[in-house]
Amino acid sequence: MKRLGLLGGMSWESSIEYERIINQFVRRKLGGMASADLIIRSFNFADIEELQAENAWEMAGVVLGEAAHELEAAGADAIVLCTNTMHAVSDAIESAVSIPLIHIADATGFAIHQSNLDTVALLGTRYTMEKDFYAGRIRDKFQVDVIIPDERDRATIHDVIYSELVQGVINPESRDRYQDIIQRLVARGAQGVIAGCTEIELLLSERDVPVPYFPTTRIHATAAAAFALAD
Ligand code: GLU
Repeated sequence: MKRLGLLGGMSWESSIEYERIINQFVRRKLGGMASADLIIRSFNFADIEELQAENAWEMAGVVLGEAAHELEAAGADAIVLCTNTMHAVSDAIESAVSIPLIHIADATGFAIHQSNLDTVALLGTRYTMEKDFYAGRIRDKFQVDVIIPDERDRATIHDVIYSELVQGVINPESRDRYQDIIQRLVARGAQGVIAGCTEIELLLSERDVPVPYFPTTRIHATAAAAFALAD
């Protein structure tokens, strides 16, 4: 079994789900007492959020690149960056290591491609929805059209992530607001919805969404676990 190096804590509310999903996958496949071989570097999210708010993406790339390098030195065979947003600096991380980075947008794009959908909506932080590193990658690599919510809805989604979800607050009213936003996106032609922030699936499950749902923590963690067990 390969050893996975997890860059987590962004936030830990979703990183612990990565650990659970990867271990459950290994148990399902190998049975008995088998569990995953993991190294977890969990950041203080307040430090990372400060870099985001200051637009210090280059510095964030250096910080995460150094941590990835440490995981490689500790024997990791691949890097798993447990957040969508920080994939904005995936190039910096990849150039700091010689092991693969299992990219969250590739795992998600592949899942959408397998569902044969042409158009999906992307929910996430402002950074993920508005920068092109995520939607652009899915469009280019998987020929799937990605639509994003309008300005007001983007603000709502972003605020719920930072004021509630990363702080462990699950608010049913916010679930209702997300569902209203999804209705508007479906009316605009979305055939599926990407939960493109690793905490969104803590608020919104598959049964809360009227179209195919792509929860990125589950998809990414499962792809990582499959990589660990592949020959
Ligand atoms: N975990 C979130 C994501 O997947 C947001 C927190 C962060 O900015 O890393 O984008």
